[in-house]
Amino acid sequence: MTSLPLVFDAPRRALPPRHLADLDPAERRAAVAELGLPGFRADQVARHYFGRFTADVDAMTDLSPAARDVLRPLLPELVTPVLEQACDDGATRKTLWKGHDGTRAESVLMGYPDRATVCVSSQAGCGMACPFCATGQGGLERNMSTGEIVEQVRQAAAAARDGALGAPARLSNVVFMGMGEPLANYKRVVAALRRITSPAPDGLGISARGVTVSTVGLVPAIDKLAAEGLPVTLAVSLHTPDDELRDTLVPVNNRWKVDEVLDAARRYAMTTGRRVSIEYALIRDVNDHPWRADLLGKKLAQRIGKHRVHVNLIPLNPTPGSEWDASPRRVQDEFVRRVEAAGVACTVRDTRGREIAAACGQLAASEA
Ligand code: SF4
Repeated sequence: MTSLPLVFDAPRRALPPRHLADLDPAERRAAVAELGLPGFRADQVARHYFGRFTADVDAMTDLSPAARDVLRPLLPELVTPVLEQACDDGATRKTLWKGHDGTRAESVLMGYPDRATVCVSSQAGCGMACPFCATGQGGLERNMSTGEIVEQVRQAAAAARDGALGAPARLSNVVFMGMGEPLANYKRVVAALRRITSPAPDGLGISARGVTVSTVGLVPAIDKLAAEGLPVTLAVSLHTPDDELRDTLVPVNNRWKVDEVLDAARRYAMTTGRRVSIEYALIRDVNDHPWRADLLGKKLAQRIGKHRVHVNLIPLNPTPGSEWDASPRRVQDEFVRRVEAAGVACTVRDTRGREIAAACGQLAASEA
């Protein structure tokens, strides 16, 4: 019998200080007024922060030195890079961040011919305890604040603009697939989604169509997200279509079963008009059997609808010393063929960052 998931693990640490990016436009104006400055100063700072990706108050030279000093507490340094690694000829850059209290989280910036994507963390650690995942082994440290999540995106946008990927690029995509279960940190993640997708000066102006939120399947939170009016893509980490194996592979399945999760995914697709992505880490001799591919295709077609879903197969990036391994190529090809035979689109995700341990949580784990 599998123990119950650690979904409701109490975070062990406190959140960081308040930051401009935690606040919506009205709260920003109120915070600036509390500091004794007129409300329009809030828009001025926001234009620098969201519009020009500047967090250094001293670079905001249209503000007087006195005003800059007053506003400084609204821009505390939330995440500091402690380790940066590049691979794929510089087109993939991974950053390990340290929070104000020493907690670690990571993000990965990836350049493609037609876009630049950042993969961000939403929690330090994770309480979902998936046995094949390095982050899951350490449990949940704490939730990340809205500001800490937005800071990962802002810094990635500034780095891409400044040529970190080679040529200057515009950050167009954000995926919540780093450390943590985004929907277990719901309120802060949704606030971050609003900051990321609102046009400047209220936000970073990235199209909601370019933003993906992944989840292991927290059904009530999926329904809540559908009602937010934020047409971001939902990615469900399914990893197997049968409850028996999923109860172990994704322990939250003890709470919400495969069919309940797929029904929530259908409701999400119907409400938002966005095609749902099904994430499936293919693990040798664990979940890569032909019958599982057939069952996956059948269930997705029946419960979500062929045209409302897409399967993203992820060749497993084994963690050092782990018993889990990636499936052989021919097994992977057969899996794709069988899912497609059910009329469901299925692609193999490109394995960016393999050589820098870019599976979720691995850089933090190896650095620790
Ligand atoms: S795979 Fe994702 S949800 Fe599962 S433990 Fe790792 S970070 Fe958490």
